[in-house]
Formats: sequence, structure tokens, C-alpha cells
Amino acid sequence: MSPESLDLLRNTIRDVQDFPKPGIVFKDITPVLADPKVMRLAIDALIETADGQRIDKVAGIDARGFIFGAAICDRLGVGFVPIRKKGKLPWKTNGKSYSLEYGEASVEIHQDAVAKGENVLLVDDLLATGGTADAAALLLSGLGANILAVSFFIELEFLEGRKRIEQHAPVRSVLTY
Ligand code: AMP
Repeated sequence: MSPESLDLLRNTIRDVQDFPKPGIVFKDITPVLADPKVMRLAIDALIETADGQRIDKVAGIDARGFIFGAAICDRLGVGFVPIRKKGKLPWKTNGKSYSLEYGEASVEIHQDAVAKGENVLLVDDLLATGGTADAAALLLSGLGANILAVSFFIELEFLEGRKRIEQHAPVRSVLTY
């Protein structure tokens, strides 16, 4: 990805101060989604994070990981696996809880979502503390997936979330802050 393209991506993301609570700067990706040329660049960049490895499936994390993940799947002609917040998936699930700043959250995956040994790229829009991606990677590993990389459109480096997920697979991000 050229420096100009990365600048365009960076400049299209909107910072929203104090959302959803005071002190948080929310990285709003909706302007990226709204511009087809910029969205195409974002998908190109995320695909590049896989370094040309053969991908069988892309797993996306609820909810913005679905948008990027499904677009990558359509481009590559591979299947999509949703990793959802607790209680949303209708079939047999495996779940994993993880701690948030206040309290707990859980993510779930369908037990038949991935076959043993399948090459999976795990995608989300943003890496903050890494709790969500760590839980998602554990669910994939539990099904026997071979996680090629855990890839993010945005990484908030100062939160050091990658330390929690490097044990599962290489951690890659398109833009860092
Ligand atoms: P974490 O588990 O702490 O890495 O949180 C990651 C999830 O929270 C991602 O799915 C993001 O969509 C969301 N998130 C956390 N912090 C932000 C932020 N500053 N801006 C946008 N989304 C965020």
C-alpha cells in the first residue's frame, strides 16, 4: 500500500471525542464505508496483511469486523465466519467470556463454523485492549483452525492489546495510533 493511500485512509477516519463516554476518542470508520474508493483501499490493505498466504475462511468479529470481513470474502471468493456477541447465533455454539474495563462480555462461534486445519484470517475494525480478539482467537483455535493472522484496520498501540493476541498468530494492522 502506497504512503498516499495510507494517508487517505487515515484522513478519512473520523475521531469522535468522548464517545461512548468521557475520555474515549472513538475511531469512526463510517466515512470509510461511505466512500467506495476508500473502502476498496481498506479492503486491499487488509488483504495485504495476509502476505499472500492461502486463506480458506475469514472470521469477523461482531459487528464492524463483519463489514470488513465479508467484503474481503467476496473479493477472495472464500467463506465468512461470524464471531458474535452472546445469544445471537442460532445453532450450537462455543462461547468465551472476557473481562472489560467494567464487567464481562462473551463472544460465540458456531461449532461447525470451521473445519480442523482450515486457514483462517481473523479480522476486526479496531484493536484496543485485545480482549475481544483474544477471546475470538481462542474460539477459533478451539475448533482446530489454523489462524494465519489477526488483522485490524486500526490499532491503538498505546493500549498494548497486541500483547494479548500475539500468542495465537501474527498481529497485523493497517493504521496505528
Ligand atoms: P478491545 O477488546 O478492547 O480490543 O476492544 C475492541 C472492540 O471495541 C473493537 O471491536 C472495536 O470496535 C471497539 N472499540 C474499542 N475502542 C474503540 C475506539 N476508541 N474507537 C472505536 N472502536 C473501539
